[in-house]
Amino acid sequence: MNNNEFIKVPFLSGLDQENYTRWLVALNETAKGFTICDVKELTTAERHEARVAVVANPSTSQLADLPNLVWVQSLWAGVETLVNQELAPSLQVVRLVDDRLSETMAEAALAWVLYLHRGMPKYRQQQDRRQWQQWPVKLAHERSVAVLGMGALGKRVARKLRETGFVVRGWSKNAKSVDELTMEHFYGEGGLREILSVSEIVIILLPLTEDTSGLLGRQKLSYLPSGASIINFARGPIIDDGALLDSLNSGQLAHAVLDVFATEPLPEHHAFWTHPGITVLPHIAAPTDKTSASKIVASNLTGYFENGTIPPVISKTRGY
Ligand code: NAP
Repeated sequence: MNNNEFIKVPFLSGLDQENYTRWLVALNETAKGFTICDVKELTTAERHEARVAVVANPSTSQLADLPNLVWVQSLWAGVETLVNQELAPSLQVVRLVDDRLSETMAEAALAWVLYLHRGMPKYRQQQDRRQWQQWPVKLAHERSVAVLGMGALGKRVARKLRETGFVVRGWSKNAKSVDELTMEHFYGEGGLREILSVSEIVIILLPLTEDTSGLLGRQKLSYLPSGASIINFARGPIIDDGALLDSLNSGQLAHAVLDVFATEPLPEHHAFWTHPGITVLPHIAAPTDKTSASKIVASNLTGYFENGTIPPVISKTRGY
């Protein structure tokens, strides 16, 4: 590859200025041969020549400014906001698939599964009441955990939990070979009922799509054994908030650890903040690491400019 320093790659985003600048620095430090820059630094001819852009929550008008884009490299793993925009039919979307992100998510899943497994929310409440009460202890191999979504993140999470001893089952859209996963796997609508009915802790790691929006409503939550708990590390609208509150209030669900919400930041007066059955996290389960993400972006850009390879793209009709 020669003279990549003369190849400008626009970076489109809805980030605040401070974050945008941090990303620009990280990307340019890593993608040595390229100049990743604000679209304003491109001439009219360069905007027309641009075939690829790096994006993080870009607006439709920012994308329209680059009429001949072939693909965009997202800095995020979840791309529902981008995919839900009016995108040119020929524009391909590459999302971030980062091993470090999967490991970060696996650690988060382990931490919060253990939090539920060892009854920490209950002991916290007992302490507030100065109540000394011991509850029976189960071992990990006596606890069943479901991972909904067995993609880049879900598979790593499932493996980490299984290594710790939990009885882990996975669920996704399509059938998978047991050899691939070495654990019990369920799929489709029927499979969801089956897996929920035998799971004491459920972790959601699904993309937000037309099919998964509101997926866990009143009926699906009722399939869970009484006293089960939920962890949502994917996207808020996958759970129906009203149904979740009703399940917690009736005692059907014991606890929910929520990292993601329909509106973020979670509004100040939202019922979740003070509900004793809910742990609120500020979308922190697996933040994108600028250094490792920049390396992936650099490698993807190099592949494209050296031999025209576009990394695996998402299906815009499927939504992930
Ligand atoms: P991925 O690799 O695309 O995997 C998605 C998984 O979900 C696949 O197993 C897929 O099934 C399954 N799925 C999709 N639609 C389904 C449906 N209708 N029914 C059943 N299964 C369905 O995604 P990923 O990289 O693991 O990321 C998952 C999500 O995590 C992202 O979309 C993002 O929203 C979220 N996320 C959150 C954070 C955080 O900090 N909280 C950080 C990063 C990402 P198949 O395998 O059969 O296709």
